Amino acid sequence: MKKIGILGGGQLGRMLLQSAINYPVETYLMENDATAPAAHLCHHFTKGDITQFDAVYAFGKGLDAITIEIENVNLEALEQLAAEGVKVYPHPTALKIIKDKVKQKLFYQTHQIPTSEFVVTESTADLQQHLAFLPAVHKIGNGGYDGKGVQILKQASDFEKGFDTPSVLEKMVDIKQEIAIIIAVGNTGQTAIYPPVDMVFDPSLNLLSYQICPAQIPEKVFWKAEAIAINVVKKLNSPGVFAVEMFTDVHGNVLVNEIAPRVHNSGHHTIEGNFSSQFDMLWRIMLDYPLGNTANISPTALVNLLGDEGYSGPAQYEGLNDVLNMDNVFVHLYGKKETKPGRKMGHVTIMSHEKQELLHKVNQIKHSLFVRSA
Ligand code: ADP
Repeated sequence: MKKIGILGGGQLGRMLLQSAINYPVETYLMENDATAPAAHLCHHFTKGDITQFDAVYAFGKGLDAITIEIENVNLEALEQLAAEGVKVYPHPTALKIIKDKVKQKLFYQTHQIPTSEFVVTESTADLQQHLAFLPAVHKIGNGGYDGKGVQILKQASDFEKGFDTPSVLEKMVDIKQEIAIIIAVGNTGQTAIYPPVDMVFDPSLNLLSYQICPAQIPEKVFWKAEAIAINVVKKLNSPGVFAVEMFTDVHGNVLVNEIAPRVHNSGHHTIEGNFSSQFDMLWRIMLDYPLGNTANISPTALVNLLGDEGYSGPAQYEGLNDVLNMDNVFVHLYGKKETKPGRKMGHVTIMSHEKQELLHKVNQIKHSLFVRSA
């Protein structure tokens, strides 16, 4: 049986392990927190720091393959493991590009992938030279996630909010829609593409509020987005599962915002909504089986369950029975003991062929299910 390791034990690792039980695979997981959402679901748990060379190297040595559920892992150890024959998903060369938003933007530029105009800044002092670039979005090169590490700079007085470390300053795009496409790449370069997802963000938290699949986009935009997403992922030259996040504007342009080289929040609906989920797909790739069927079984909507404002402490789920009483609605709680405002605590997937029903249930769920603390 193949031995496959996962770096990180959050909800992505948890859902990945839920899919693993269908296959002949021995699972290993490393994570600092022994109570993390995925920790108890693997065959072999190692408590360790995924950002440390020695810990990652020792964990990966002897495994057949290793994957990540977060980009902030020790890249050098993965490079070493890959050199020694451990299969790494995504390949460290792809991870290296994506991990750093500066490298990622330069990669798009080199390969003529449509993306927002940008300049690279080394410090906040650099920002003064780019007044003409405003309004803009400043993004930290390393370590940002879920909107942390992103600042909107409208005028020179906002420069103090910028990052004093290598970052990208992007021209503000007049976004019409944010869409994402999940793409699977097999070991010999074969690809499978999922239907696009419409992502609707919560402006105050900068976090995904809900998403609809398939995205409501004009056919021309759809073809463009698919072509761009496939092209950029192929250029990364790595097997794995990738989420390509894109912006569309009022003129029908499609720009790549960023890529996640792993299973992603924009693909959680695929658990119920598609014949082969993004998690199932990654096991097929890592175990060298044929790619799965990416077609939708039904249109879906997905609501993230975020820790409610004003509550921190042991998590309690209010209104859970109401949602569990709804037809064709699937609740996923991530098993995090502690809630805090905006923390991703779970998600709910809704299936229906009626768009109105999807939106109606999104609203019902957002107004009836809360993660709070006593
Ligand atoms: P993160 O990786 O932290 O999610 P993103 O790069 O996806 O950061 O940016 C977070 C959000 O900020 C995006 O979903 C989008 O709404 C907004 N945003 C990012 N870049 C731009 C841009 N160039 N123009 C306008 N809005 C942007």
